[in-house]
Amino acid sequence: MGTNALEKELMPTGTDANLQNYEEAVRTAGWEKAAEHFTWFKTGKVNMVHEAIDRHVEEGKGDKKALLYTDGEREEEYTYSELSKLSCQFANGLRSKGIEKGDRVFIFMPRSPELYISVLGILRIGAIAGPLFEAFMEEAVKDRLQDSGAKAVVTTPELLSRIPVDELPDLQFVILVGGDEKGENIVTFNGLMNVSDEHVIEWMEREDGMLLHYTSGSTGKPKGILQVHDAMIHQYVAGKWVYDLHEDDVYWCTADPGWVTGTSAGMWSPWLNGVTNVLRGGRFKAEDWYKTLEKFNVTVWFSAPTAFRMLMASGNELPKKYDISKVRHILSAGEPLNPEVIRWGMDSLNRRIHDNWWMTETGSSICANFRCNPIRPGSMGKPVPGITMTIIDDDGNELPPRHMGNLAIKPKWPAMLPQVWNNKERYESYFLNGWFVSGDSAYRDEDGYFWFEGRVDDVINTSGERVGPFEVESKLVEHPAVAEAGVIGVPDPVRGEVIKAFITLREGYEESEELMVEIRNFVKTRLAAHAAPRMFEVRETMPKTRSGKIMRRVLKAWELGLPTGDLSTMED
Ligand code: ATP
Ligand code: MG
Repeated sequence: MGTNALEKELMPTGTDANLQNYEEAVRTAGWEKAAEHFTWFKTGKVNMVHEAIDRHVEEGKGDKKALLYTDGEREEEYTYSELSKLSCQFANGLRSKGIEKGDRVFIFMPRSPELYISVLGILRIGAIAGPLFEAFMEEAVKDRLQDSGAKAVVTTPELLSRIPVDELPDLQFVILVGGDEKGENIVTFNGLMNVSDEHVIEWMEREDGMLLHYTSGSTGKPKGILQVHDAMIHQYVAGKWVYDLHEDDVYWCTADPGWVTGTSAGMWSPWLNGVTNVLRGGRFKAEDWYKTLEKFNVTVWFSAPTAFRMLMASGNELPKKYDISKVRHILSAGEPLNPEVIRWGMDSLNRRIHDNWWMTETGSSICANFRCNPIRPGSMGKPVPGITMTIIDDDGNELPPRHMGNLAIKPKWPAMLPQVWNNKERYESYFLNGWFVSGDSAYRDEDGYFWFEGRVDDVINTSGERVGPFEVESKLVEHPAVAEAGVIGVPDPVRGEVIKAFITLREGYEESEELMVEIRNFVKTRLAAHAAPRMFEVRETMPKTRSGKIMRRVLKAWELGLPTGDLSTMED
């Protein structure tokens, strides 16, 4: 363990970072202090949309660009005032159809301004928004709409057939973006918006729900995670300190709002910090992504390891064709960030990629590589000031540095889940000895950096050694032939488990006995003999969630011939 730590550190950058002194912030920061930023701290009137949008209008910044949209064809810009008005119209429309505080309204459609306006409109009247990724098929959509008891869904004519309205007793009506009205139960977005834009806002309690996100399904059946308005404190702090947003920044987070990163880091952190937010519709294409960075003069860019690996695969020449010089720094979350990707960021983009760790359940960034601290490649950094995080054993006792165990967080923090929808038992199962247990396995080094090792269930025990799949995978993708890697333990009568690596090859490489031996030796000599895979399988593609995470449980089920479990979130 700990070989990652041998990677060269990247020294802190910029004296202009919002967070200058990490240690001091840890000593002095508190969530209640951060709360002083908000208008409700004085008025007592709480609503996310007020703080994220209306407040900027009231403070005279209504003409500032809040949203820049492109999908290659459609191109639009919205100011904070415009978003405020449009979301008021949507909110008034929802009210006219009987939607009230606490009702769930789901959104099932591709990334577009209408999606963002819908979320804002729903929250405005105190209802709970549930964004669903557009690629879900009928069963997955039904599960989530049934579980949440959604009263209305915003969707497109193309996706309507995946909503089994007859099997959803709570569903009262559908709002179509595009297409035509069909009676009272299928209305159009434009029709619904055909009401006054009179200002409307429902004042909430800090602990009232605002979003219901279903988790990615990497480890099993997705859970409905509620998020409350109070999460804004955390999301504001993450925007300021982790993403280091400054007033003039143009920020682009590539995550889809169907996942927590797409709302927390894609909407709230930037808008609470009053910056200009970029939204790109359409599918991933390396050229289009570089073009988007250039076109909007993006200064802070947030994406995920899977996207970076796809950009890497598109070659080092491509980014040279675009002017991405305005980018100050890059952020990554959602999956472990291989040191190789950080190296690519330095070599190919000449920019730092700052990894930060969180989950749907945590609601915002928990642990991060801050600008004011050295980046240790392969490490997810240090806890956000205000967060207490540690490593515990299975009995809930804290472990000393360099011991692999359960990554755990001390409740409670503002963006923390207050419940799992319809599942009290599942909620309670997160807690052990006063800690929230993440389900991830990690260790801490002597300097307080945390190192992700894998999901707890994925940690491999081979010849008495615990091996985290992430470290092995990171080493594998350093080999020039390996594009992606997923590593599992396979039961073995002698060693307990042996390590099996599923890999995809880069263009120009062919599967062969010699190549596998070479790759095995590569890991053996650079990581450790016991951590080198004994079995290899070359695949065309990896089983991944629709949010881009490698599904090791599926690899394992295939390997062992076991049932694969819930596959609703798996890519086609
Ligand atoms: P499910 O809970 O349904 O199995 P999931 O855990 O993938 O799916 P999310 O809440 O979207 O659902 O993802 C959170 C998980 O993503 C974390 O528990 C962690 O395993 C992984 N993750 C997120 N950010 C990082 C990171 N920076 N480094 C390593 N892992 C990360
Ligand atoms: Mg999870």
